[in-house]
Amino acid sequence: MGCIENKSSPATNSESDFNAFEAMQPRFPDRTPKDRRNGAHVKDADVPPEGVYLPNNNYQAPHMKSPEYVQLSTAAAITLGIMGGRMYGCECTRCLNLLLTYPEGCRANCAYCGLARHREADRDYADRNFIRVDWPAVPMAEIVDIVAKDPEASPFHRMCISMITHPRSEEDTFTVLKQWTDKIDPDAIPVSILSNPTTMTREDVQKTRDLGADIFTVALDAATPDVFDRTRGKGVQSPHKWSKYWEILEDAKDIFGKEKFGAHIIVGMGETEYEVLNLVQELRDLGGHSHMFCFFPEDGSLMDHLPATPRDQWRRVQLARYLIDYRDVRIDHMRFDELGRVLDFGLPEVELSTVIDEGIAFRTSGCPGKFQEDISACDRPYGDSPPSDIASYPFQPKKRDLKKIRRQLEIPVRVE
Ligand code: SF4
Repeated sequence: MGCIENKSSPATNSESDFNAFEAMQPRFPDRTPKDRRNGAHVKDADVPPEGVYLPNNNYQAPHMKSPEYVQLSTAAAITLGIMGGRMYGCECTRCLNLLLTYPEGCRANCAYCGLARHREADRDYADRNFIRVDWPAVPMAEIVDIVAKDPEASPFHRMCISMITHPRSEEDTFTVLKQWTDKIDPDAIPVSILSNPTTMTREDVQKTRDLGADIFTVALDAATPDVFDRTRGKGVQSPHKWSKYWEILEDAKDIFGKEKFGAHIIVGMGETEYEVLNLVQELRDLGGHSHMFCFFPEDGSLMDHLPATPRDQWRRVQLARYLIDYRDVRIDHMRFDELGRVLDFGLPEVELSTVIDEGIAFRTSGCPGKFQEDISACDRPYGDSPPSDIASYPFQPKKRDLKKIRRQLEIPVRVE
């Protein structure tokens, strides 16, 4: 594989410069035939796993499950040396992203997600991609053995366990976390948990802390209760509730403390810029951070007919979020138009220009690595856009990238 550019380019929204609520209705999931439900296909065939499983190997997906097996991002597999390939603009990823795996897969049905339950009708779980990127399955012991050889010299600045919605998710997260911290000092490579609150209790959050996790994040994904309900709740026969996600977020704040918790938010699923930035401010006021993703219409998802987030909307939110999270600008310093779009970022022009030219605001956001607090270890190469039209930069944007970003922001290019 040449690089991670392996999916078709998304539809773009030529009518509008933002994705309005009315325009972002997911389609309804079809019924899954009985013989494809709950991973029956994989369980019935019961093919024993043999080492690494690459998605779309064109044979029956083996019967793999956590905690013995986990999936990892293509970028992490390349960095670990498990897969060949190169990534546009980056030598490696700094975050080892792991995902729990089961033949029956995630039991939720989130409209934007490639792993959603309704997809069992046409793809085995191990063959589904998350968003844009494939996730090979690998024995957890093999991953730990490779990294434990020399954690200090590892390219990874952080490891992250992503939970999915499954009855075994908590127990297996504890086992995978312990398997890691038994052999790898969490001071050498800190661990984050990307939680699935629907099946969690406060005690579960505490246990991840006790087992050595450093940061706890909640995949809120939707920026408002209405968008949440429509994309990952009742609207698509999915079990998640906004109130439960906030309950676990509050638990994470109490247990992990300031700067050690946060939420994932996808921009462009129907919320206004004001609404998403209001949420960013709320998280900041609680002492946490927001980790942003640009909506991408994943093939086979319930939102694959909808437009990707226009780049101007995305850049405005990216920049404003960075100012709130790292430059002490508050949402009440900013101005918005009647459609909730950012008109003024609340900083004098010269200061704003300096922040834009530093470029960090446009890099992928997430839990910090070892470079500096505002540079995410979790760089998720091309997880929300193709390399030909980058949304989150997995590398430091260069001069030509900054010129493009300024054009997208409609802020004139500075010539130096
Ligand atoms: S809970 Fe997470 S993995 Fe499962 S469908 Fe929703 S977004 Fe995808």
